[in-house]
Amino acid sequence: MKSLLGGKGANLAEMCRLGLPVPPGFTISTDVCTYYYKHHSSYPKSLEAEVLENIRRIESEIGKTFGDPENPLLFSVRSGARASMPGMMDTVLNLGMNDKIVVGIANLSKNPRFAWDNYRRFVQMYGDVVLGLQPINPNDADPFEEIIDKLKAEKRIELDTDLSVDDLKFLVQEFKYVIKARTGKEFPTDPMKQLWGAISAVFGSWMNTRAIKYRSLNGIPDEWGTAVNVQAMVYGNMGTDSATGVAFTRDPSTGENKFYGEYLVNAQGEDVVAGVRTPQPINKAGRKNTEDITLESLMPIQYKELTKIRSILESHYRDMQDVEFTIERGVLWMLQTRTGKRTATASLRIAVEMQESGMLTKEEALMRVDPEQLNHLLHPTFDPNADLKVVAKGLPASPGAASGRVVFNADDAEEWAERGEDVILVRIETSPEDIGGMDAAKGILTSRGGMTSHAAVVARGMGKCCVAGCKDIFVVYSAKQFVIGDKAINQGEWISLNGSTGEVILGKAPTVEPEISGNFTKLMEWADSIKRLGVRTNADTPHDAQVAIQFGAKGIGLCRTEHMFFQEERLSAMREMIMADNPVWRKSALAKLLPMQTEDFIGIFEVMDGLPVTIRTLDPPLHEFLPSRVELMETLLDLKLKLKDENDLTKLNALLKKIRINEDLLNKAEVLNEVNPMLGTRGCRLGIMYPELTEMQAKAIFEAACICKRRGVDVHPEIMVPLITSKEELIHQKNIINKVAREIMDKHGIELDYLVGTMIELPRAALLAADIAAEADFFSFGTNDLTQTTLGLSRDDAGKFLPYYVQKGIYKDEPFQKLDQAGVGKLIDFAVREGQKAKPAIKLGICGEHGGDPSSIEFFHKVGLAYVSCSPYRVPIARLTAAQVVIKEEREN
Ligand code: ADP
Ligand code: MG
Ligand code: MG
Repeated sequence: MKSLLGGKGANLAEMCRLGLPVPPGFTISTDVCTYYYKHHSSYPKSLEAEVLENIRRIESEIGKTFGDPENPLLFSVRSGARASMPGMMDTVLNLGMNDKIVVGIANLSKNPRFAWDNYRRFVQMYGDVVLGLQPINPNDADPFEEIIDKLKAEKRIELDTDLSVDDLKFLVQEFKYVIKARTGKEFPTDPMKQLWGAISAVFGSWMNTRAIKYRSLNGIPDEWGTAVNVQAMVYGNMGTDSATGVAFTRDPSTGENKFYGEYLVNAQGEDVVAGVRTPQPINKAGRKNTEDITLESLMPIQYKELTKIRSILESHYRDMQDVEFTIERGVLWMLQTRTGKRTATASLRIAVEMQESGMLTKEEALMRVDPEQLNHLLHPTFDPNADLKVVAKGLPASPGAASGRVVFNADDAEEWAERGEDVILVRIETSPEDIGGMDAAKGILTSRGGMTSHAAVVARGMGKCCVAGCKDIFVVYSAKQFVIGDKAINQGEWISLNGSTGEVILGKAPTVEPEISGNFTKLMEWADSIKRLGVRTNADTPHDAQVAIQFGAKGIGLCRTEHMFFQEERLSAMREMIMADNPVWRKSALAKLLPMQTEDFIGIFEVMDGLPVTIRTLDPPLHEFLPSRVELMETLLDLKLKLKDENDLTKLNALLKKIRINEDLLNKAEVLNEVNPMLGTRGCRLGIMYPELTEMQAKAIFEAACICKRRGVDVHPEIMVPLITSKEELIHQKNIINKVAREIMDKHGIELDYLVGTMIELPRAALLAADIAAEADFFSFGTNDLTQTTLGLSRDDAGKFLPYYVQKGIYKDEPFQKLDQAGVGKLIDFAVREGQKAKPAIKLGICGEHGGDPSSIEFFHKVGLAYVSCSPYRVPIARLTAAQVVIKEEREN
């Protein structure tokens, strides 16, 4: 249904079926759109007759005639794709008017102002959407608004509603004149011509740049096409007994089960969304100021009907709905319903509460939450104890804490973000062409518009922090600045936004870790009861391990030992080890590292009490621990220059000694220098070249494990050898590890349960998995290196061409973000099957960055891995995804 009628059309049909008041209309299906693009923008033969037939049906239903000046029927023509694309496609209202018909409407309604205001709106929308009169540059004002603003300035009036009939007549004329002058197009007077023009404009807009951009950001295929909805007009601008509004069946920001919405008296739909006038809350619950006049108090009967419709819609769709309504002379009409966009917090709360009220099963509730969205819940907020310079307050349109440099248009936002800058996009109001810039920005600030304005709705959908309708600020595009009181903030200056309070803060505000709510815990428990895949974390420090445990990690899948060597004192011991020319000196340097490394492991084992900890032996090439060659050469030059001015002998000697040390370092750096360090002396190759190194690390691990065990900690070390290509490499390292383990356990008189396994991160290792499995207790797929080596590209250099590849569709996704299932995945699948054949009890996991990516997690589940390991913040995402995979599987069977 949705694929044919589009979301809007299908839901309108559904509302009719539920007996709700919907203005009569018809929908031209997405099939016609597909036909239109396949046949050089033409329509199937039968379409014209069908459209006519439907118009006749509506005419007889309403008792008005399309194009009849005596008693005219007017239409709205709206686009509607299968997936909701807010504001992406333009709507034309009041279609079917001309100079004669406007007079007819004025007579019939006995309200010339109403008639001319509709005509003015129609010419404006039609001129923009169908005839294409739009601003040329992003910073230009809308050409129609420019004319209106000029007239208002001349007449010294503020509100559109203060325009007189003559003003409106003047505007209609002026609009038509400018349309003709700037586009060369004559405004069509024949209503039928107008209708067909609008229909092809809707189809045409499917391929406009901003629609294409939105689709590519949201993974919507171009082939889907849009439907066209033609619907009889109803009027919210017929006087003070008329109104128009939008509402959410629950609070889209917090998820609270209360009716939430905004409306305007005597207005047409677009006015609420566009934020031209600031709308009023529909009920007391949404009231922000005491002066606010609620719909509940102003039109109690209609409000009551609306609340009834709210519960009908919720129990029918079993999800939070976002609706548009219009009241025409006291009669309520429903114009749209769709699944409402919501924040991560709201999404979680709604899913859990709907399950608890019996509306959803646990499985359904779990499927309702997008794993990626959880990300927003787990991220930092502003430090409540910090001294924040709050300079303005707007509406808390989409929660989050964002800091960045101010920019004033979407193009700049994209450009700056590409350069790696954090930006806040500041606009008077946003419109669909700003989508790209909104996506690139850390946060969005607008001076106009309500909680349902374009900026607010889109930001919530993106999970992006947004403060909307901030009246305290005055934005001047031409000067690239905004003004608060007597303070001007220029492009490039830092500000921070609090999307949960609406606060605008000067400078870059400090943040703190988030608190996790009860709904989160509940949903995660449900996920754990359903999922089969284990979730571990990549953590190198007790702190990271602690965070991961709070997020529900059941072990460490990757503890990188090298990160521990980068601290000041350790680095010097590490360098001493590297500089040592023989095993004896090397061992003495390593002896200095041993106690520190032991302490590290004790800390981690204590946090991970009862859970497995996979520790990888040293992996990166040694030159990473030395200063760079360029750096060393510069230091040497400096030191040598100093020699010249030094005449104190002791100081000279000290200088010379320094020079010698740095020369040694430089020599070593030259020796260690590799053209392709990624494929050089790293991974197990280090431990094979310098067995003392593996020995020291093994000692540290087993010492720590024995000490912890004696203290009553339940330890499960799993030692992992990186970057092997053959079983011989593993055997070599395993012999060292086992020998050390025996010695330490004997020394302490303690027996430990430990495993020795390997990473599978080179294609040869995957191909020889059967062979290697015979020697390994476990495999952990290192998908970062496996991706690099399977695709023959280095992650550090691929940035030059990967984005282009993805853009051109040569690669479907960025292979370091989403696992290349066809290639790398095939190797993993092969290695899993071969490994299990050779050793049925072998433990299998993955510890690359892909362990936190939903589509990759789905793949790992399907090939039968026991666990994924990902960064602490992605643990909940992995847990939820792992549950969703099981639910999807069950639904398929
Ligand atoms: P969007 O996808 O941007 O929400 P819509 O097609 O829903 O666009 O419509 C734009 C505006 O026009 C909305 O405010 C809607 O309520 C109003 N509108 C649409 N159809 C009608 C109609 N038949 N009568 C009155 N207002 C309408
Ligand atoms: Mg709409
Ligand atoms: Mg690796």
